[in-house]
Amino acid sequence: MKGWAAVSDFDGTITLRDVGDHLLLHYGFSDRKTIEESYSLKVRVEDFMKRAFAGAKLTEEVIAGFVREKVRARAGFRDFILFCEAAGVPFEIASGGIDLYADPFFKKHGVKVKSFFGRARVVKGGIRIDYPFLKRMDLSAFKASRVRRLKAAGYKVVFFGDGPNDFKAAGLADKVYAAGRLLKLCRERGIAASPLVSFGRAANFIKKNG
Ligand SMILES: [Mg+2]
Repeated sequence: MKGWAAVSDFDGTITLRDVGDHLLLHYGFSDRKTIEESYSLKVRVEDFMKRAFAGAKLTEEVIAGFVREKVRARAGFRDFILFCEAAGVPFEIASGGIDLYADPFFKKHGVKVKSFFGRARVVKGGIRIDYPFLKRMDLSAFKASRVRRLKAAGYKVVFFGDGPNDFKAAGLADKVYAAGRLLKLCRERGIAASPLVSFGRAANFIKKNG
């Protein structure tokens, strides 16, 4: 046994609100109903993101400014990253979000984290997104594959998430911290999950159960 490793979603998990949704709503490029529908288990987050941002006329500077001013991290995030580094706990983020908001977020918090985000480019009329790490897999299966990979390497895995597309990964993890729709789904389907409040709790859990 190598001890613990951690895999996390980003939007709504590391951040308190989904940054993509928040951006689209704030600048009027989507509405609540469309966003609500995107959380159906039948909708692929990556397809929704590509579609929703295709017409979002935003610049890199505007997005970076939005992140600096409006995006808040969940309590204990930075300390958890530092704890993982010090304790030799591999930590990675698997996200359907995009680098245009993730990069300024990590910069703001002064951390470097192994991560998988959509690659976004400002083009005429909007933002073009591609997901180089999703080859024949969808995002939900990709997240699960990251958990499976660490387990195969001998780690126990703690998973953090908040969305329906995190459910497969949660089902494979040894310990789950869930918020929002994922917590509800885990409860409905009998997957043990603790409510994700702060990352400090997860650090304590790992220290106690190392
Ligand atoms: Mg999320």
